[in-house]
Amino acid sequence: MVRLVLTYGDERIPYDVSQDERRTSKVAIHVDPDGSVSVEAPPGFSECRIAEAVQRRARWVIKHVQEARERHKHRMPKEYVSGEQVLYLGRRYVLKVIPVDGPPKPASLVGSRLQVETQRQTSEDIRARVRAWYKVRGRDYLARRLEQVSKSLPWVRQVPALRLLEMKRQWGSCSPSGEIIVNTHLVKAPRPCIDYVLIHELAHLKHHDHGPEFWSLLDNHAVGWRKDKAQLDNLVEILTAD
Ligand SMILES: [Zn+2]
Repeated sequence: MVRLVLTYGDERIPYDVSQDERRTSKVAIHVDPDGSVSVEAPPGFSECRIAEAVQRRARWVIKHVQEARERHKHRMPKEYVSGEQVLYLGRRYVLKVIPVDGPPKPASLVGSRLQVETQRQTSEDIRARVRAWYKVRGRDYLARRLEQVSKSLPWVRQVPALRLLEMKRQWGSCSPSGEIIVNTHLVKAPRPCIDYVLIHELAHLKHHDHGPEFWSLLDNHAVGWRKDKAQLDNLVEILTAD
């Protein structure tokens, strides 16, 4: 394996080159999710020929590297260190870890920061504190919003029971007994997206399936829901990451 560098304007992008026996005429350029680049070349291609081939596609490479970096930057915390981003109601907050000697206070939002006190200073401890904060704040917001939304919908006679559940691929569900179950991760999403999920589940109190009547109920009571649903679908990876 050799390492070459692509230069384009101010950008210098190093990439590893490996040989791929199956390739015969062209190099293949890969941009990984973190923005790193690798290249597969047919056997026998000189470094010079590989570098030229990559250079010819420089604009394409730079564009994809920049897009990947941008997406990567917005990922949820992985290490739970100060400076990482935390999402709440569609807004970005910066995680601020504060080591303390005594018993830590619960995490709290201060301006644009989520301040998390920790005695043990391990990422597991900080992660648990961030998740506890999401649960408390999230339940509070969702319960309040469920009540407000329920009162605006003529077919909902009383505010249903609410349960928060961590789910990988589902934002909400409506149990046969009429309980509304909402994904804990949903509180990271923008407010209109949260309302869409609540109205969607509340609409199931009237229509249990996803038939035409169900969707027309949404059209009448959740203005712009298609846009909110599309935004949620786009964010699913980011919102459910941790
Ligand atoms: Zn549904």
